[in-house]
Amino acid sequence: MKIVDLRIHPVAVSRQYATLTSGGQEGRKNPDAAPVELSYFYILEVETDVGIVGIGEISDIDPGSRMLDGSPMDLENVSAKLRSLLVGRDPSDMERLTLEVRTGGLVDCAIDTACYDIMGKSYGTSATSLAGGHLRKSVWVSWVAYIREPEAMVPEIQEKLAQGFNAFKFKVGRDIDLDEARIKLFREIGGDDLNLKLDANAAWDVDEAISFMRRLEKYNISGVETPIDKENVTGMARVRKAVDTPILEHVSTQEYALELVRHEAVDVFNVSTVGCGGIYRAKKVIAIAEAAGLNALLGSTVELGVGTAAQLALASSSWRVDWPSDLIGPLMYTDDVLNEPWEWDNGYLRVPTGPGLGVTLDPAKLESLRHTLPTSR
Ligand SMILES: [Mg+2]
Repeated sequence: MKIVDLRIHPVAVSRQYATLTSGGQEGRKNPDAAPVELSYFYILEVETDVGIVGIGEISDIDPGSRMLDGSPMDLENVSAKLRSLLVGRDPSDMERLTLEVRTGGLVDCAIDTACYDIMGKSYGTSATSLAGGHLRKSVWVSWVAYIREPEAMVPEIQEKLAQGFNAFKFKVGRDIDLDEARIKLFREIGGDDLNLKLDANAAWDVDEAISFMRRLEKYNISGVETPIDKENVTGMARVRKAVDTPILEHVSTQEYALELVRHEAVDVFNVSTVGCGGIYRAKKVIAIAEAAGLNALLGSTVELGVGTAAQLALASSSWRVDWPSDLIGPLMYTDDVLNEPWEWDNGYLRVPTGPGLGVTLDPAKLESLRHTLPTSR
């Protein structure tokens, strides 16, 4: 089987509300940072010589961002690059494909997703089965609440509790007093037993991280993600030794995974298809968490339906992914490109079982959501 052509559909979808993170230490100094209202995607269709078409998703593209070789993410360039890299290749040749094709995590992920979809359809089985099997029928999801005034957050939390969510993640890091007020209010609404992670998006330095995490310990925080700059691995190890709260970090390569393990810097790997460049590469990173006796969860750049299906194949087939994952795309976006509705089981997202990814594109949605990627945000 060979890849013979591909098509890319540029789409944009609004978020339920304009979302704001800390923006790191730099972002913290900018109180007027613009929240994200609209997210941009390239939906990829990869055609083979046997008539099977596989789908993938370049998720939540930041306008102005570039591919790994420095070239722009405009439609013409990405289409030409992918055509030159993929046409003539066997989509099941994954080890070779991941060694030879490196275009940046988001684009690599779309390629990997389309290949799993093609392989599944070709073999008459699900991408999840190919990734290791349907170990779980549904995946535990933590609702991600972005930085807002506490009062604005109340209906959001109440709605998610009513939908059955028992795990949450709060974006924090712009203002510790505001963070504490939000967490305190959350505990008043939902009680002390709900699973609550925090994600500071690298807003703090080592001393701030230690002092802020100690200050928040009384709220029964299950873990804090990216308290400091993730490149400062020795600093992260210092924070971890000084606090009782587990440390979570995004891990997208095997090399970085090993560095974290060597320095005993984290408790939980945050792994994702989008971060690692697809299911195949992400599996190798999760295997390091497994070997090191660490936990894992799936992070997210907030994917649309195709990307979410790939994440579910990874999560449901990996036993070490035992922490709540951040797969909120199906509820955070106001629309999707799929024919099939998502099914939830009390805060658990059901894993599709059909051939390939188990989801199909709605051509009318690709048309109505069509949107050119702007050159800057
Ligand atoms: Mg994060």
